[in-house]
Amino acid sequence: MSTEGEHKEIILNGISASPGICIGKAYLVDREGVDVIKRYHIDADDLQNEVTRFKVAVKQAKDELHAIIKETSEDLQQHADILETQVVVLEDKMLYGRTIETIEKEQINAEWALKKVVSKVKSMFQDITDAYLKDRTTDIEHVSDRIMRHLVGAEPVNIAEIDKRVILIAHDLSPAQTSQINLERIMGFVTVLGGVTSHTSIIARSLGIPAVQGIENASRLIQNDDIIIVDGSRGNVFINPSEPTLVDYMERQERFESFQAGIARSSHQPAKTTDGHRVKVMGNIEQPEQVVAVMDNGGEGVGLFRTEFQYLSSPQFPGEDELFEKYKEVVDVMPNGPVTIRTLDINGDKAFVRNSGVAESNPALGLRAIRYCLKRPDVFKTQLRAILRAAVFGEVRLLLPMLATLDELMIAKSLLEDAIQSLEDEDQEYNRNIDLGVMIEVPSLAVMADVIAREVDFFSIGTNDLIQYSMAVDRGNREVAYLYNPLHPAILRILKFVSDAAKQEGIKLFMCGEMAGDPFSLPVLLGLGIDELSMTPQSIPVLKNMIRSISMADARTFMQEILKQTSARAVTELIQSNYGGIISETIFPE
Ligand code: PEP
Ligand code: MG
Repeated sequence: MSTEGEHKEIILNGISASPGICIGKAYLVDREGVDVIKRYHIDADDLQNEVTRFKVAVKQAKDELHAIIKETSEDLQQHADILETQVVVLEDKMLYGRTIETIEKEQINAEWALKKVVSKVKSMFQDITDAYLKDRTTDIEHVSDRIMRHLVGAEPVNIAEIDKRVILIAHDLSPAQTSQINLERIMGFVTVLGGVTSHTSIIARSLGIPAVQGIENASRLIQNDDIIIVDGSRGNVFINPSEPTLVDYMERQERFESFQAGIARSSHQPAKTTDGHRVKVMGNIEQPEQVVAVMDNGGEGVGLFRTEFQYLSSPQFPGEDELFEKYKEVVDVMPNGPVTIRTLDINGDKAFVRNSGVAESNPALGLRAIRYCLKRPDVFKTQLRAILRAAVFGEVRLLLPMLATLDELMIAKSLLEDAIQSLEDEDQEYNRNIDLGVMIEVPSLAVMADVIAREVDFFSIGTNDLIQYSMAVDRGNREVAYLYNPLHPAILRILKFVSDAAKQEGIKLFMCGEMAGDPFSLPVLLGLGIDELSMTPQSIPVLKNMIRSISMADARTFMQEILKQTSARAVTELIQSNYGGIISETIFPE
């Protein structure tokens, strides 16, 4: 990193979260107006006024929090609990008392005093690993941001309302915030937190905007209106780029976009390997409207419809008719391809909503997805009924997420029977002849794949969670991202076992985790005999392009060599030496 002088080019390296290049002005999301705090002296006579100004800002922040808590529905109890904690933090001695003390002792303005106290608290907690205390530091940060906004008179940023073309810079973006992004305004984004399979980056890829995550100092080093370049393909961010860098990147952006346009044209043809094997390539969607992107990019169906986002956007759960309309919308646009509707997968790293009211210290291991649905059969059956009704209009598949045991599958199947029976009793139009599949994403289910295969029509491997749970690595934590490798032999052995189980029982094997859209993993996926790959729509053209350059017979032989390797590095080297040329030619020849 070079940091001489204020306007010198600075290069930051992070994690490539969504490919592509964008060049434009930075827009700081969570700290608008808050990062340009200046220090100034307060005369002794004015000190009391300054303290009052601080107290007023705290009071405004408190009123604001109370108003939000009041509007929070009971179902969002956990969110309300977090806010209640923040109300307490607001008047905690550590923050409130010390800031007043600092204003008075050092005769400085309230903003500077608050900033100073917060950074002291943060450095005190820096090396602490205790999750509870870490959460308290986050609360202190959120609370101080809120007070600071009142002190400087800045409005909180609503992403949906940003009205200029900018690149977002944020500490973190929640999946719900990311899904509010307006493509005409937001060119790309950079965040401090997150990793390649965090839901935020998945949404960025499906929106087709470049994104880099895991840039530690992003919101400190980047100022509002700085010119920046986001190279989402390489995971680089340039602040105040030099003239030669700008010219280079403008050319690169043009080449990238024309290459994309070229492969997008050929993507409407089926993808066959050089020895004639047809591999189906499908799209993953989060919102019904994205089905258009699947079509535009040559997707042959929807391999994964993540339905939870419809539940996150409003405080009320959607009703059966509303769900049915949305599912039908997708099925209508995709008349020739299957639409794989996955039942509700909330909690985990997607907004923590509608919990039992008990705060979870490990949400990824908690009441997520099917676990929640089995606890709330009313919610689950409403969704199942909507899916069965939509299945009248096209080829629908039903996919269950996060199963850990055969028992859970059997209970889910009996609830499906109940839903069918209720539609039958009410004389509703529905279609019960739909394929039922499970996500293979919890290791306990993967090792039971031979047994599970007898109960379902297909498997869909969710590598994002399968890797997270198998390697004990948080999918959104950049500190441990080095362990997050789909090509680790441990993962490849699990995939081989699951693939053998599916073949043995004669059921279809699909993959819809991010590994399915990773060109580097493709030779392995072909070697494993995966029937269908589903990915963010924007990745489809590249993968189809690459499938056309690989022989299935070679991939199968190659897989035998791969399975003998004992480290991710050895696997990577082997892929590089056998397929490196094909990969770099088909992804983006630079
Ligand atoms: C997965 O876990 O691989 C998957 C596709 O599901 P999600 O990313 O929605 O958890
Ligand atoms: Mg998953």
